[in-house]
Amino acid sequence: MERVFNDRRYLIPFRSTLLPQIFTDVLVVGAGVAGLRAAIAAAERGAEVIVLSKSDLSHTNTAWAQGGIASVMEEGDSFDAHVDDTLTAGAGLCDGPAVRRIVGDGPARLRECLGWGMALDRAADGSLSVGREGGHSARRIYHAGGDATGAELERCLAAKVKSLGTVRLFTQCFLLDFVTATSEPGSRVLGAITHHPRYGLQMVWARSTVLASGGAGMVYRETTNPHPATGDGLAAAYRAGAEVADMAFMQFHPTVLYLPGAARSLISEAVRGEGAHLLDADSNRFMPEVHELAELAPRDVVSQAIVRQIASQGGQHVWLDCRHMGGFAERFPGIAATLKRFDLDPGEDLIPVHPAAHYTVGGARTDHAGRTNLPGLFAVGEAACSGLHGANRLASNSLLEGLVLGAVAGDAAASNGEALGKPAKVVSDIPLSDHGELDLSDVRSSLRSAMWRNVGIQRTGAKLTDAVEMFDFWGRYTLDKIFDDPAGWETQNMLLVGALMARSALWREESRGCHAREDFPALADRFRVHDCWLRGSGEPVARPVRDDAPAGADR
Ligand SMILES: Cc1cc2nc3c(=O)[nH]c(=O)nc-3n(C[C@H](O)[C@H](O)[C@H](O)COP(=O)(O)OP(=O)(O)OC[C@H]3O[C@@H](n4cnc5c(N)ncnc54)[C@H](O)[C@@H]3O)c2cc1C
Repeated sequence: MERVFNDRRYLIPFRSTLLPQIFTDVLVVGAGVAGLRAAIAAAERGAEVIVLSKSDLSHTNTAWAQGGIASVMEEGDSFDAHVDDTLTAGAGLCDGPAVRRIVGDGPARLRECLGWGMALDRAADGSLSVGREGGHSARRIYHAGGDATGAELERCLAAKVKSLGTVRLFTQCFLLDFVTATSEPGSRVLGAITHHPRYGLQMVWARSTVLASGGAGMVYRETTNPHPATGDGLAAAYRAGAEVADMAFMQFHPTVLYLPGAARSLISEAVRGEGAHLLDADSNRFMPEVHELAELAPRDVVSQAIVRQIASQGGQHVWLDCRHMGGFAERFPGIAATLKRFDLDPGEDLIPVHPAAHYTVGGARTDHAGRTNLPGLFAVGEAACSGLHGANRLASNSLLEGLVLGAVAGDAAASNGEALGKPAKVVSDIPLSDHGELDLSDVRSSLRSAMWRNVGIQRTGAKLTDAVEMFDFWGRYTLDKIFDDPAGWETQNMLLVGALMARSALWREESRGCHAREDFPALADRFRVHDCWLRGSGEPVARPVRDDAPAGADR
């Protein structure tokens, strides 16, 4: 990475001894499925826990999840089949032990949620309704409220957290940086520096810290993600010295409502799972010719087919045809309500759709228990790179991952032996910038457009090189500034995360999973590795895929 992305250890200058001090056993950054499940596990181990969320709980990726949670609970399905489907989607980069553990623990974790009151949808006979999504060889997607699975999961986990009494939830509280004993790589994480609009800057000291701050879809102009998904936690982990891996892999969701002026609302894959077709500008159904699974092919295949179709015919979108399905509003009430706002009736009208950035596959690299390379720092959920998704995420595997590894990491964080000593004296000095004023919103929107144009669905070395050079240049006069509110910090974080994504995509001279290079259209064996980026080094460290190692032997 260019020096400008490596120089700055902290976003702001501070002296830890001059700030209000808070102490806890476990600090969890993020209140989506991963963070809340980790908090529950840590609290059940007797730890005092603080959970930070910069947003309220309805603006997490978790709360916006529609389709469901993948789990093997039907007769005729098997763990092996779910493992195989996950490995196929992951295109050679999944870590076997992670896949087997997450798939294997899934049913128990989901049943636990049922026990805590999660209202999964049921058939008339009382059995759980189960759906199918792209890339799955069996019906194994459990859902709630039709297309409101995430909101129900978030509600259930938040209620459980509140019932425990030992978890303090700080909403609207922004993580700036993880605090380490020294600025040297590998130094222990001692907690975090945070900002709250009412209480200002605070030091939160913790025995263990869990990064669960979700993905970074907001670095793209077109995204399904809510506003908080700016990759702050990933950027903070990188600044602290954590290994950040596989950043080239951004999954693009093929079917997002495409109407000028409308938010990019997701039309769940489950809609195609229930039989919706994709039509081109001439009303031809084009997916059967592209892949044997037609509309249910893996997401990268469908997204790329849509982009090619649009490029060959002109226009901005393709059509999703649900007219033949019947019962749309009953099965997908949330999506039907969104469409109604734009005067679209899925029983009669075609729906304009286009791909958009959806899921951040890469993240802070962890072992099977969510441990990063930094002592004291764990990572789970979309902010982490556990090895489950490899080069592409299988639909509905991420809520599953959050539930399973959230529990594992929360437990490990609470058992982390190192007691908190006297608070360290941490000092961050940053020279004043000699560059002039900055129009922050312009940097942010330029970055998001450049990511969409140059680091999007179809990539080339030339476009990626342009992006890398642009971000290096913008970084020189954006990252040397000191901001005093989240808008500035988020923009700095987005620039760092975008730079990591562009560099990783440029480095990976092959097409694999959701990373497609027009100049390198084939898989290349020498890239069957995780590219891990560390602050201070220009080139990534290539780590082997953990496929045959027995669980527990990895890292
Ligand atoms: C529209 C949509 C539909 C989806 N549908 C499905 C689906 O059907 N099935 C499935 O498995 N997956 C689905 N996904 C993906 C899935 O929802 C996410 O991958 C998963 O919920 C991520 O959970 P998480 O806990 O890691 O992060 P999130 O749920 O995103 O939570 C992140 C938390 O971190 C906090 N945070 C972020 N930055 C900071 C900061 N600087 N300071 C403090 N707090 C911070 C946020 O406020 C939030 O509380 C969908 C995603 C989207 C966007």
